[in-house]
Amino acid sequence: MSDPSPVLAAQWFDGRSSRARPARVQLLPAPDGTRLQLRTLDGAGETLDLTHKQVGWPERWSAGRAPPRVAVDLGAHGSLQIEDVAGWQAALAQVNHRSSLAERMQTRWSVLLTVLLIAGAGVWAFYRWGTPWAATQITRHVPLSWELALTQQAMKEIDRQYVKPTTLPPARQAELRAGFDKLVALIGPGLQRYPGYRPPFKLEFRSGMGPNAFALPGGTIVMTDAMVEQARAVPNTGDTALLGVLAHEIGHVEHRHTTRMVVEQGVLNVGLGLALGDVSTLVSSGASLLTGLSYRRGHETESDCYAAAMMKKAGLPTAPMADLLLGIEHQMEEKMRRGGKSANASAPVEKPEPTARRRQADWFSTHPDTVGRAERLKAGQALGCS
Ligand SMILES: [Zn+2]
Repeated sequence: MSDPSPVLAAQWFDGRSSRARPARVQLLPAPDGTRLQLRTLDGAGETLDLTHKQVGWPERWSAGRAPPRVAVDLGAHGSLQIEDVAGWQAALAQVNHRSSLAERMQTRWSVLLTVLLIAGAGVWAFYRWGTPWAATQITRHVPLSWELALTQQAMKEIDRQYVKPTTLPPARQAELRAGFDKLVALIGPGLQRYPGYRPPFKLEFRSGMGPNAFALPGGTIVMTDAMVEQARAVPNTGDTALLGVLAHEIGHVEHRHTTRMVVEQGVLNVGLGLALGDVSTLVSSGASLLTGLSYRRGHETESDCYAAAMMKKAGLPTAPMADLLLGIEHQMEEKMRRGGKSANASAPVEKPEPTARRRQADWFSTHPDTVGRAERLKAGQALGCS
């Protein structure tokens, strides 16, 4: 261990009076950080022996920016002023005074900036690559039983909060289920996205929502009565359009999009928790999380691609589902136009607030470019299909 520093002349403001008291100061190396010893020269011969923690070590300065004098905060013991700035620096160096990271960050903005940049880049890289990669690996190992349990819970919540029982006649339901089953029967190696993944597909109908359809992990797909009604009202759509919508939802199931998002959310929370040293931010995933999720645009493209491939295999056109999509969009715009803002009738039509659209509203919720999407579907393909 190094030697004590040379003695420095100082003015001590003891906090009891406003008078400066001449003193001598010496720094001493110690295992728990540099100590500061002070002895007054005004006859009283008072001494202080302060540990590293009791001293408010002044911020260091870079070369050429030395302050005129050094001020040292001694907490309850007042403060010191030292004129010999260079002597203070030399004394610190001699006792190997090591500043804490926080101290270095205060003095050296470049260090602070570097730390912030590294932290930011780390979080970003984790989000950008770490999470999707980890999620893909984990999703492969998520058992179907876990998805089915999650869906059972979610369905209860959806039934309680968002939808009502269907009013479609049983015969009509059976008719649509027969078409759905034919699509499901087409799933083979070419339309499988996870080898060995065979979820029990099930088509459910519900009312109480606008025209829509959504898929839950493990093969449950829900279509609203309004959607079925819509396909009767919009020309050139019909059941073929509804089958296209169902094929899209089957795509979400086969790609296990929801499971991936639940896993990613979990990975992200654990990762961020570890990175920030706060694991209490861990979110308990479950049915409530499931209902709050919304598909990413990439997921929609994947499902459109899937639907195009499935409809092709079934020998059915994709134009009807595109017309249905445009029909719903048109109807929504009409509703918006009639609904309000009549004072500003010439303004461009706004879509509903994205936050107001929930995960349940899959078919129509997360597709910002409906016209472009419909055009691609009409051509029997979706952009970016591999
Ligand atoms: Zn979708």
